[in-house]
Amino acid sequence: MSLPDGVERRSFGGDDEWLATRGEPVYGEPTDGEWRRWDARRSKLGAMFERGMEHGLEGGETVLYLGAAAGTTVSHVADIAGPTYAVEFAARPARDLLEAAEPRPNLFALLKDARSPETYAHVVEPVDAIVQDVATRGQANVALANRRFLREDGRLLLAVKPRSEDVVREPEAVLDEVLETLSEGYAILETRSLEPFHEDHFGVVATRR
Ligand code: SAM
Repeated sequence: MSLPDGVERRSFGGDDEWLATRGEPVYGEPTDGEWRRWDARRSKLGAMFERGMEHGLEGGETVLYLGAAAGTTVSHVADIAGPTYAVEFAARPARDLLEAAEPRPNLFALLKDARSPETYAHVVEPVDAIVQDVATRGQANVALANRRFLREDGRLLLAVKPRSEDVVREPEAVLDEVLETLSEGYAILETRSLEPFHEDHFGVVATRR
């Protein structure tokens, strides 16, 4: 799968190639003119691109991002997307998220709990993609609760961290359970390990059922 419009591979003066988007720097990442490095080791979505997953993004989509933290990944998303709604419930990272949103008129930070979508349903329009990286127990239920925002032909790009559900059991076994719950509302298109970028994490691409 090719990269969305607005994401390129650039060298930033070294031998390696990195993902990059154009926008205001957010977290001290290296830049080259307008381009800012997007490190897949710091971003599950970046790792899904690097792993060649069927993300379905072309650029310009409307996006709901769940688990935005300080805005590392969602700022890159907003660099290439249309309206981007970023949900984060922890006040501390949300302060940095607000800063990342400042120069990005299409990035809307929502200090909300993604388990309670009714608290932001009046703000969020139907979206082409949901990107989720909450890394907490009940990851599948968060995706199910937010399914209502996803357009019929839209995609869910989900990062699953099995250890957030159960630290003891085999990650693959926990992943199977997450996928089973997820399939109550989504048809799963693809699942891949995000290693070597993120240990014990999986990327999942799904559509609405
Ligand atoms: N996606 C971020 C990035 O790549 O820049 C990193 C996200 S971090 C792994 C997970 C984030 O999800 C944390 O900031 C946590 O506070 C947030 N989170 C967890 N459960 C949440 C919930 N129910 N509602 C909103 N945010 C949540």
